[in-house]
Amino acid sequence: MTTVSIDSERCAGHGACVTVCPDAFALTGDGYAELTVDRIPEELVELVERAAAQCPERAILLAAR
Ligand code: SF4
Repeated sequence: MTTVSIDSERCAGHGACVTVCPDAFALTGDGYAELTVDRIPEELVELVERAAAQCPERAILLAAR
């Protein structure tokens, strides 16, 4: 299982993650990213990995469990 978290200290609110994977990320009213899923469904893992790779702040942390 893959888990994901966002380092809120690093997130600068570019929104790239939302563009890449809108099924797992959203922007809060403040313009920063939040997760919309607790666990990443298998079909979203590739997109979430791509979002993490494209985050300019390296704020998306993935862990395999
Ligand atoms: S791409 Fe990274 S810095 Fe931008 S909103 Fe998403 S988590 Fe935050």
